[in-house]
Amino acid sequence: METILTLNNLTKRFGPITAVKDLSFTIEKGNVYGILGPNGSGKSTTLGIVLNVVNKTSGDFQWFEGNESTHNALKKVGAIIERPNFYPYMTAAQNLKLVCKIKDVSPDKIDEKLKIVGLLDRKNSKFRTFSLGMKQRLAIASALLNDPEILILDEPTNGLDPQGIHQIREIITKIAGLGTTILLASHLLDEVEKVCTHVVIIRKGEKLYSGRVDEMNASHGFFELKASDIIKLQELLKKHPSIGKIVPKENCLTAFLNEPMEPETLNTYLFEHGLVLSQLVKRKESLEEQFLQLTNQISA
Ligand code: ADP
Ligand code: MG
Repeated sequence: METILTLNNLTKRFGPITAVKDLSFTIEKGNVYGILGPNGSGKSTTLGIVLNVVNKTSGDFQWFEGNESTHNALKKVGAIIERPNFYPYMTAAQNLKLVCKIKDVSPDKIDEKLKIVGLLDRKNSKFRTFSLGMKQRLAIASALLNDPEILILDEPTNGLDPQGIHQIREIITKIAGLGTTILLASHLLDEVEKVCTHVVIIRKGEKLYSGRVDEMNASHGFFELKASDIIKLQELLKKHPSIGKIVPKENCLTAFLNEPMEPETLNTYLFEHGLVLSQLVKRKESLEEQFLQLTNQISA
């Protein structure tokens, strides 16, 4: 696998505030990464550091396995970390032409990029006539002009209406489908769930979880079970193919599911094997509960 970006123990302090604390993670080519965390958790600071607009306090980061200077590496990165700002009285196409001059890339790709973001038919409209969502889409087109290896977006749907949000998410998915690696920062769990393949969850600058989004959501739930013969209960549970990990807790067992199973099915199975339960509770944490638990786990 090709590594696009590696962060090693990155730390950023603003006076007494530690905005990013000992943060390490790796971005591999072809995936869509979300940095997920509540407001003020250090997402924008992290993006600012790797884009060389914020100075780190300690630790380091490496673009493209460290084979190039950061300056050269950043030529292969497309990023939108601020509100899109173009010339209001110039058209979409004119604005992008100017960006091509500044970035020293050919203007040949303007139409192609406008098409990706669904603005080709508005290429000759003035920027000031665009909705916020269209402005954001133009910014994405602009960031794609140099065919970047990775596209970085900071809260790409902030302030947009539901339709605008939906369009931006579809465009991100489309760009990822064309092979561009994506790193986006968001405080919205459902955004990360819908758009990303991988997630780094941070709180107060510290990493709480990183991994695949689908593995985070892989839980089929668990049963909390009690019976007078807890040894026999444990033995029967071990024999059941749908039951994975079994965790004893005081006079109760927590049995995690490998695959979906209804409480009635388990109850029948146990009863047919001569065991009567005194308690049966099925629970499943939603991804939202898991996220909230995770982000609250280190008390303030
Ligand atoms: P997020 O993007 O996750 O909302 P930020 O990276 O913007 O979080 O901020 C992380 C923390 O660092 C916050 O406490 C914020 O107030 C602080 N911070 C960010 N930028 C500055 C700065 N330029 N000067 C002082 N504190 C800052
Ligand atoms: Mg931010």
